[in-house]
Amino acid sequence: MTETLRNPISPTVDFERDGVQHGFLRLPYSRDDSAWGAVMIPISVVKNGAGPTALFTGGNHGDEYEGPLALSKLAGSLDPTAIRGRLIIVPFMNAPAVWAGTRTSPIDRGNLNRSFPGRPDGTVTQKIADYFQRTLLPMADLVLDIHSGGKTLDFLPFAACHLLPDPAQQARCEAGMRAFAAPYCMRMLEQDAQGLYDTAAEALGKVFVTTELGGGGTLSARSLAIAERGVRNLLIHFDMLEGEPQRGESVMLDMPDDGCYLCSESDGLLEMCRDLGETVQAGELVARVHDARRTGVAPVEYRARRAGLISARHFPGRVQSGDTLAVIAEVVG
Ligand code: CA
Repeated sequence: MTETLRNPISPTVDFERDGVQHGFLRLPYSRDDSAWGAVMIPISVVKNGAGPTALFTGGNHGDEYEGPLALSKLAGSLDPTAIRGRLIIVPFMNAPAVWAGTRTSPIDRGNLNRSFPGRPDGTVTQKIADYFQRTLLPMADLVLDIHSGGKTLDFLPFAACHLLPDPAQQARCEAGMRAFAAPYCMRMLEQDAQGLYDTAAEALGKVFVTTELGGGGTLSARSLAIAERGVRNLLIHFDMLEGEPQRGESVMLDMPDDGCYLCSESDGLLEMCRDLGETVQAGELVARVHDARRTGVAPVEYRARRAGLISARHFPGRVQSGDTLAVIAEVVG
């Protein structure tokens, strides 16, 4: 019989206690500047009696800011008597990456959102994944993970869910996505679902909602407001918070197949010919990549492989072969 390894993370909060607690997930990490040190991942628990458990996270990638700010503001402002059930908030999920302002962890280069199910005896990032996989996710009924594009992508602000094998779970996720009330809702197709937190939460049967709310390694007043409105709307939708949801018009988008992705096959300078939120027809010019090593060379043209709305784009002005240049999603309503 193999013994199940214990995760080394210890919480300084009591998940069963009523009221508001602000504490840490303490992850031992011995290193040059702290022999018996730890990575202290902030966590807040707001609990009021019986009811569902919601697990809200930001900072899964460290260069995305709507989630960390909306959730730390929520954690600092919630009146526990206004909550029914339990809300667990981890605004800086991959905290070392958030502190460094990078997508992946500076400790082990770990991309938390490719590290699931994680390992209790692995790297720092793998240990964080394992703690979510085996401790936090099983406690949750509703899981929200707030993303945006980070330094290298920019998105139309959307809440998203995936196509799931269980239609009842799919319907619950879609209802959550709509309740978030972002300007766009996306049925998202992942190129790389293996190792995602999303996939881990969905496989455990949870209601899972994610977002992409902007990008470029920063945020705007508008994108933060969408996140702050969304988290409250979701709590109200699940009958965990009193109040009226703030709704607006949402455009429904779908990524029906791989043809949504436009991928660069060249290195150079990016000329976007169309912008985020614009509609293109199949075959229409979306971007050119210019050679920055010499003059007199024709740029490489990238044309839409399908008709739709430009929902994501490569953000920096320089582009490399293999970069996603744009995502073109179908408008479904
Ligand atoms: Ca992300």
